[in-house]
Amino acid sequence: MNQRDIVQWIMRKTIKENSICVDMTLGNGNDLVYIMNLAMNGKVYGFDIQRVAIQRTKEKIKPSHRIQLINDSHENIDLYIHENIDFGVYNLGYLPSGNRNITTSVHSTMFSLKVLLNKLNHGGNIVISTYPGHREGYCEDIEIKKYLTTLNQHEFDVLHFDYLNRRNSPPKVYWITKVGKV
Ligand code: SAM
Repeated sequence: MNQRDIVQWIMRKTIKENSICVDMTLGNGNDLVYIMNLAMNGKVYGFDIQRVAIQRTKEKIKPSHRIQLINDSHENIDLYIHENIDFGVYNLGYLPSGNRNITTSVHSTMFSLKVLLNKLNHGGNIVISTYPGHREGYCEDIEIKKYLTTLNQHEFDVLHFDYLNRRNSPPKVYWITKVGKV
């Protein structure tokens, strides 16, 4: 089972037909397409700082009022999304078949994650894939894990998927659920 299988399994389990979703790192748009097919009557926002990522995503979808692609940093999420979110995904790192020097960074990832957690509906979910095999990815993974460990267990469930027997810094997946109101 690879990282993508885990993420897609979580998506299938958690995204509902009417879910409001956000892809915080569009890249080639694969996650957005997968989300769109699950949230068939919902809404999907997508962020990427690279115009080429927006372009590659556009090539995979039909224009729809249910999809908003935003060519800006996910740090600015509050400028664009004025509603609460049911599902958010981060696939950190650099654009596959793109410029490897343009990667997500600890500061913007952590800042946006805190904003996104505040926008999450009860019962909502966030999935984050980290890639500790490159320098910035290693730092992101450490900071994310450290921060998620501090979340109040009465407010959030946090799960961590790790390959214990794989060499060469395999990806890790974090799954955060905002627990329902009791
Ligand atoms: N989810 C994508 C897919 O399905 O193809 C892959 C994402 S790729 C690993 C990471 C992307 O994050 C890159 O396209 C990069 O440009 C983008 N990125 C980097 N910093 C960002 C930021 N501050 N805000 C939004 N996107 C960012």
